[in-house]
Amino acid sequence: MAQAIPLKASEVEVPRLRSGRTEGGGKLTADAPLAPLVWFKAGGAAEWLFEPKDLADLRAFLADLDRQVPVMALGLGSNLIVRDGGVPGVVVRLGKAFARVQKRDATTLDCGGGASGILVSSTARDAGIAGLEFLRSIPGTVGGFVRMNGGAYRREVKDILVDCDVVLRSGELVTLPLAALGYSYRHSELPDGAIVVAARFRGAPGEPQAIQAEMDRISASREASQPLRSKTGSEKHTNFLINTGSATAGEIEALGEDVRRRVRESQGVELEWEIQRVGRK
Ligand SMILES: Cc1cc2nc3c(=O)[nH]c(=O)nc-3n(C[C@H](O)[C@H](O)[C@H](O)COP(=O)(O)OP(=O)(O)OC[C@H]3O[C@@H](n4cnc5c(N)ncnc54)[C@H](O)[C@@H]3O)c2cc1C
Repeated sequence: MAQAIPLKASEVEVPRLRSGRTEGGGKLTADAPLAPLVWFKAGGAAEWLFEPKDLADLRAFLADLDRQVPVMALGLGSNLIVRDGGVPGVVVRLGKAFARVQKRDATTLDCGGGASGILVSSTARDAGIAGLEFLRSIPGTVGGFVRMNGGAYRREVKDILVDCDVVLRSGELVTLPLAALGYSYRHSELPDGAIVVAARFRGAPGEPQAIQAEMDRISASREASQPLRSKTGSEKHTNFLINTGSATAGEIEALGEDVRRRVRESQGVELEWEIQRVGRK
């Protein structure tokens, strides 16, 4: 079951924060709508949205921030229901400075926490690194993949992660090896409030042409089975909640709960939310 930010946190006062530029050059916005930033295009605002300029800015900001204030990272919001009452505390969104992907050695890529799966897989192809093609098909960022142990086509992050750099809630920067992440199906034990700023992904030597062919095969298979392009109705996949227009987050969550109830009643099976539901109802 996905974990929501504790509701009590909504009463926390955030001292000393002001909208505008932080000392380190990042952007801090009060009461920032999150709907435009998430897949469902629904839900409330972040009490504060922080877009750090770079790693030093992120670390200094968190080190300074009252420890009671909850912090949550946001990627592409492709695995999130942001509830209509909004998210208390600070939501951190990694921008350009965290979106680079570079070859490290013959089989390893250095990936920024905000880089997309498409950029990682195409950089791997250009570098002749096979085995990362599956990331082409999962909408999201490296940080979201690492937290969620994202996977598809019989591979998941657990199979490719060497280690990752994480800024803890305290502002401390640590490198966590694969074993520290406690991976299970679409789950990690990454500490609360921790932000993945970089990860090393390892594949195997491959021919760019063959890698491209595998990426094409995966894309075609996705196109055929999932509503990846549209936010509108789909009969392709039974496991998708879709906002056809102006649904609230409350309606989307209620629909999911209704599906769970029906499956429980008719099949005796307890479905678990893979989507993380965050914020206040
Ligand atoms: C059409 C569609 C198809 C999908 N198919 C798949 C699939 O095949 N396989 C699969 O595994 N998933 C799939 N998903 C779910 C989703 O793509 C993944 O969970 C993805 O990893 C989410 O990445 P994100 O960056 O958008 O994270 P978000 O949705 O923004 O966040 C998800 C979680 O990760 C955390 N997080 C985000 N960034 C960071 C960071 N930098 N540091 C620490 N924590 C962070 C958030 O706090 C939150 O807890 C699909 C989603 C959609 C909409």
